[in-house]
Amino acid sequence: MAEPHLAERLARAITLGGPIPVAHFMAAANAHYYATRDPLGLAGDFTTAPEISQMFGEMIGLWLADVWMRSGQVKPSYVELGPGRGTLAADALRSMSRFGVEPDIHFVETSPVLRDLQAKRVATAKWHNSVESLPEDGPLMIVANEFFDALPAHQLVKTAHGWCERLLACQDTLFLPIAGKPVPLDIIPPDFVDAAPGSIIETSPASVAIVQLLADRLVKQGGVMAVIDYGYDGPVLGESLQAVKNHNFANPFENPGEQDLTVHVDFETLGAMAEICGARVYGPVGQGEWLTKIGLGARAENLKASAPDKAADLDGAVERLTGANAMGTLFRVMALAAPSWPQPEGFA
Ligand code: SAH
Repeated sequence: MAEPHLAERLARAITLGGPIPVAHFMAAANAHYYATRDPLGLAGDFTTAPEISQMFGEMIGLWLADVWMRSGQVKPSYVELGPGRGTLAADALRSMSRFGVEPDIHFVETSPVLRDLQAKRVATAKWHNSVESLPEDGPLMIVANEFFDALPAHQLVKTAHGWCERLLACQDTLFLPIAGKPVPLDIIPPDFVDAAPGSIIETSPASVAIVQLLADRLVKQGGVMAVIDYGYDGPVLGESLQAVKNHNFANPFENPGEQDLTVHVDFETLGAMAEICGARVYGPVGQGEWLTKIGLGARAENLKASAPDKAADLDGAVERLTGANAMGTLFRVMALAAPSWPQPEGFA
């Protein structure tokens, strides 16, 4: 018998057990979504920076090679969270090897479809279902591009009865947000306690827990991490949960598992957790500013010199990655580093 669609399974769970937090809906929807397809590129639902140009992964590789060469040069592990098609990793590892950096390779990826694609690009990788099983010795050079935005976020909504967890109820397979029971006020940032009814706060404990574990590891083992995503300095009032399908926005509460659900990343909260763990935090700065500072322009000129017929494409890619109307300011880069490691480039 064919498995019922995720929408039907979620609807049945809600009918039997009652409304579920937005975070549970998002977790179930994205797990199904990523497990069943390659969502990237023109033929998919959305395009990410590494799929725009090889220069993106190459610059990250050069950035990692630079900070590693200024460190104690202990054999590192390259770790990528949610590597997609493996494009960024392949481009970064190729640049790193030119500088003699040959790390062990570890991918944190839950999707079997994407693991297969990653294996075609980076055959020697080892795969992990979560960050817990990453190596516990040697420095870690960690990259997370558009990873944290896909992790489940809770929504809290202000009502006449106070701040409540936002839940999803259903009528058949139509999912509708409702307010659950009030939450304790001490979890609400003091400035927002008296916010107007209807206000929403988002929070992603899953993201904070991953940063906590990785920041602890960086402090103990050495290394750096680059977090690249669209986001804000939070907490803020407002809702950023969105669905994307075929390169268009859609209703996030429709068709669970068939469209990409994301939230904007709260850099300030992630950085604050890393600092509590003793890691150094750099940025966030705009992706455009960071790529320009670490030498994207020089890399583009270099590629143009060896392939003059590609000049217009390369200029176009630089514009998409750095332009204020493209990914340059919406996307931001934050680095975490072991205090025993030098300051990574691009933030001074
Ligand atoms: N970094 C890639 C892909 C971004 S899409 C790029 O920039 O092109 C998000 C990635 O995170 C996918 O590889 C997806 O399968 C993975 N992912 C999403 N949720 C995850 C989770 N909970 N654990 C591990 N990987 C996850």
